[in-house]
Amino acid sequence: MSPTLAIPSRQTSHETRVEGACDLCHSTEAFLLAEPSPLNSQIVLCGHCHLMYACPQLSPDTLDSFYDDDFRNDPGSRMRPGEGLEDQDDIRKQDATAEWGLDIIKRFTGIKDQKILNLRCQSGALAARLKSEGAIVYCAEPFEKNIQYATKLRGLTEVSLLPFSGFPTLPIPYQLQFDVINILMHHVLAHILSPRTLLEKLFEMLVPGGYLFLDEKDVLLPARYKIQSIFESGLAHQYHLTVHTTARYLESTGFRLIECQIDKKRISDFHHIRAVAQKPDVHEISTGGFKSSLPYASIREIQQRLEWLRKTWAIRQAGFFAKRKASKLMRRLRKHIR
Ligand SMILES: [Zn+2]
Repeated sequence: MSPTLAIPSRQTSHETRVEGACDLCHSTEAFLLAEPSPLNSQIVLCGHCHLMYACPQLSPDTLDSFYDDDFRNDPGSRMRPGEGLEDQDDIRKQDATAEWGLDIIKRFTGIKDQKILNLRCQSGALAARLKSEGAIVYCAEPFEKNIQYATKLRGLTEVSLLPFSGFPTLPIPYQLQFDVINILMHHVLAHILSPRTLLEKLFEMLVPGGYLFLDEKDVLLPARYKIQSIFESGLAHQYHLTVHTTARYLESTGFRLIECQIDKKRISDFHHIRAVAQKPDVHEISTGGFKSSLPYASIREIQQRLEWLRKTWAIRQAGFFAKRKASKLMRRLRKHIR
């Protein structure tokens, strides 16, 4: 179920202890993984549950200012150059992701008449597909341009503006009981101040037996090599998740994990994690301590993996560009032959 990590044999000795504040397990024991730089916050590794996170944490205002004034990695973001969502390539990509998400949801539950909350719905591609199949859809999204597209062009009516700082507590107008919560269009946990608080809130908002679908990135499995360090995402990522820590988050907030694995169909700058979890029926909810169903990657393994990624970056980047050059050449050759 979990990916096999390619661990090089050389041991690393990077073990600077720092005072942390782990959102997943509340431990304060942490090791330094990356010093703060213009490209990343200070990143630490929890000594107890192995969560990688930015420490110290940003204030809610700083987080929202970053998404208003700097962030441009979403077609709907305010700082995206050009017209953003008027670029049909972006819309086509979101429509394709929506079909991928719809297939996943349909494997587990019916859609007609289900109350579905769509968090970070982007331009509303998947929410609109769910609506067309008979679901009653509610959406929350941080970018105005996305909301306008979702309402004006896709005809969605319930789309609430929710800044990133609001995700943990979800101050949205729809305080309902949902059959399904969908966070497949864009990964959310890594971007917010407390994934644990959000997951606890989502657990409350689901009916017993209701499903949570979510997408995350596994930072130990980068797919592209444009950056030297996996942590170089500016202030965007507060958490650097893996298949293990995503599973642990879901299980420690009461969910029953149905799937948590690398999805072969979805790759961006990292391989993506597809997680499907269910709120157990009332009689099944246990108050005992949780035990993860996925084996731990040890601290040593994580540190070695990071060291390996750092050292092999130049080689992997050269391979990436060579592959791209070769495929361009092949395309030109094919054109020439025709
Ligand atoms: Zn922890």
